[in-house]
Amino acid sequence: MKTLHKISDLRAELNALKNKNPELKIALVPTMGNLHDGHLKLMQQAKQSADIVVATIFVNRLQFGVGEDFDKYPRTLQADQQKLQSVSVDFLFAPDENELYPQPQNFYVLPDENLQGVLEGKTRPIHFRGVATVVLKLFNIVQPNCAFFGKKDYQQLLILKAMVQQFALPIEIFGVEIARADDGLALSSRNGYLSESERKIAPQLQQTLQQLRQQVLTTSEKNFANLVENSKNALQQQNSLWQVDYIKICDKHNLREIQNLENGVNTNDLIILAAAKLGNTRLIDNLEI
Ligand code: AMP
Repeated sequence: MKTLHKISDLRAELNALKNKNPELKIALVPTMGNLHDGHLKLMQQAKQSADIVVATIFVNRLQFGVGEDFDKYPRTLQADQQKLQSVSVDFLFAPDENELYPQPQNFYVLPDENLQGVLEGKTRPIHFRGVATVVLKLFNIVQPNCAFFGKKDYQQLLILKAMVQQFALPIEIFGVEIARADDGLALSSRNGYLSESERKIAPQLQQTLQQLRQQVLTTSEKNFANLVENSKNALQQQNSLWQVDYIKICDKHNLREIQNLENGVNTNDLIILAAAKLGNTRLIDNLEI
């Protein structure tokens, strides 16, 4: 694996390969590093679909709000390089901030408010603008045939699919299933912020979503409001360290909140999305119904 820090170096490498083989398929997997098995699953799926895998590591200031964890976000390049090597990634592109944003970035990709203003975007208003902007920039630099994103960040995945469609970018977007620890906790770089005792409690979020899913599938109650309210309360009562930001049942194609099973709503189209703080750490998770 080659690690490159400059846009011009990466372009030169990829152009040389494409000149040799114009049919070459390139997959891109953008990350912010501090890699875990969830990231590596993305790399492995990318490797199965393309000839060349380009992973990127960049902690993108544009997607962090004031008071969020940009400064303390873990930066672990050496360990990440070894992990990427172990799953046969071909190139790691790890630009520094001056390389990707030589001037303050003042052109943005602004996703549709219905997609970006809800769920995560309500608590983190500039988050998806920052994500979409850096991903478009990475798409322009790498010009991949396909790109891989985790369903863990489900809203992000839908927004990026919409971006590709609306800007007619010739890139296929793949969503990869959530990788979990044995106890059900969705893997995340932010799990490292949890204390030992918080880490033991953390799987309760996933368990709550499982229970809610079961209730939605079995209940004769058509209105979801009570079910959702009960599951929020149940989680917060399990441990006082939980502070639920949201638990919502949505249409998995457009993230519109679904209040009840009337009007021909099919449970196969639903997804439960949640965010909750455990102590000082904000966790997200979701479960397709
Ligand atoms: P991040 O480094 O957090 O920006 O994540 C980089 C990519 O890895 C994103 O597409 C995430 O959705 C994906 N990802 C992170 N955690 C997981 C997980 N537990 N399972 C699957 N994909 C994940």
